[in-house]
Amino acid sequence: MRETKQRRIILEELKKHMDHPGADELYHEVRKVLPRISLGTVYRNLDLLSECGVIRKLEYGSGQKRFDPNPQPHCHFRCVKCGSVKDLPFEIEVPEPDKNHPWLKTRKILGANLEYYGLCTECMAGEH
Ligand SMILES: [Zn+2]
Ligand SMILES: [Zn+2]
Repeated sequence: MRETKQRRIILEELKKHMDHPGADELYHEVRKVLPRISLGTVYRNLDLLSECGVIRKLEYGSGQKRFDPNPQPHCHFRCVKCGSVKDLPFEIEVPEPDKNHPWLKTRKILGANLEYYGLCTECMAGEH
């Protein structure tokens, strides 16, 4: 993958956010550094980075896509009320499937998405 200045800055901005921002949110941040960048360019670069496994794309049905700077398997906590997605602050081992299972001979696993859901601190306190 060719490294461009735009892509480097998009990645740097994403790494500053541990709350898995959507492309729109990230676009506002990136524009502070690159005022002439378009939302389409931000989208394209995020898609490319996630296809190459540099970042991870989180998709929630019809909801907005979010982007995660950490491509390694890890667990998330999603708030069902405000939709925020955070990494768990402690390690939980993501289960590895049995690679010799016949079902996996004709399939390829690229990653895992382990998610807990519930109410975040702010929603628990009724602040949203
Ligand atoms: Zn919440
Ligand atoms: Zn994450």
